[in-house]
Amino acid sequence: MDKNLVIPFFIPHAGCPFTCVFCNQWEISGEDQEANPEEILTKVKEYLHTVKKKPERTEVAFFGGSFTGLPVSVQESYLKGAFHAKEEGLIDGIRLSTRPDYISDEIVERLCRYGVTTIELGCQSLVDEVLSKTKRGHDVEDIMKATEIIRKYPTELGYQLMLGLPGDNFTHARDTARKTIEAKPDCVRIYPALVLKNTVLAQWYEQGRYEPWNLENAVEMAAEWLGAFTYYKIKVIRMGLQATENLTPEKDLVAGPYHPAFGELVESKLMLQQLTALLSSKSLQGEEATIFFNPRDCSKVIGQKRKNIQVIKEHFGFLHIRLMPDHDLPENDLRVQVESEIMTSTRQEFLKQYRNNKWY
Ligand code: SF4
Repeated sequence: MDKNLVIPFFIPHAGCPFTCVFCNQWEISGEDQEANPEEILTKVKEYLHTVKKKPERTEVAFFGGSFTGLPVSVQESYLKGAFHAKEEGLIDGIRLSTRPDYISDEIVERLCRYGVTTIELGCQSLVDEVLSKTKRGHDVEDIMKATEIIRKYPTELGYQLMLGLPGDNFTHARDTARKTIEAKPDCVRIYPALVLKNTVLAQWYEQGRYEPWNLENAVEMAAEWLGAFTYYKIKVIRMGLQATENLTPEKDLVAGPYHPAFGELVESKLMLQQLTALLSSKSLQGEEATIFFNPRDCSKVIGQKRKNIQVIKEHFGFLHIRLMPDHDLPENDLRVQVESEIMTSTRQEFLKQYRNNKWY
């Protein structure tokens, strides 16, 4: 996962033409007034003061709305502040999110003039049926056109994708991933669709018109996506919404596959599949297996509530599993010893093999 420092400027619902069925950003009033570039610069400086360890890379991010739908003067007022911070060497990059139908050569040229380094497109799905049932107001062609335009400029491209929107299913989710792989963005964010209070989706849910995915299915498909994107070297920079105090049934969450550590669940799922594939590659005899892994992967290997260890024990009949962190092993690579048999698996080898049994 990305470990860069991001200084967020949240501009909820700003520039959006309407409120998407799953989005409750409208509850917070949109800021479509001009920002003061000096204030942005000051906020960046204040934020950096609070950081103890210097990050490898620092970025300013404008999130929460459709940045390029804002009046040009408002976009420029935000960008000027960030651009000054970049010129002063305080930050390395500027990222923002917008709708795919709010991209043109003129728009991207402007963003590049102000030093924008990453444009994230809120694609959600790359299947027209899902986009239309979700009433997104754009189609897959708009995403492809925006992708083509952004690719002409020296800025990175990100896709924000959702699982489980109206009309979505495993087949459509795999289509979305396949088309994403073809489009080859530099990075993706993966979010399971949640039913939030005061949204159209919440009304549809109450009327029985929409059923969210359960957590198990969302984790299952997100693990497939993680495997597929990793194999094709598309960075997955976020999985699941940031846990906030509002994401509780008492506050904003009505229903859906929410988990405060969604990303961790997905990583553990993929790790379990890698371990299972490795142990299945030989016929093994023994009561004990020793799993070696990079110390950073400890929780992924063990799984939530030791689930992975339980599954491995039951599936392969081991009485004991020994866990051995090994600094010499790269992250996501594994070595397993059963009696005198030693097996290794790199993440990339596993994903290649996994790809042959899957769909990407
Ligand atoms: S475009 Fe994005 S921020 Fe705007 S309403 Fe839709 S989901 Fe919410």
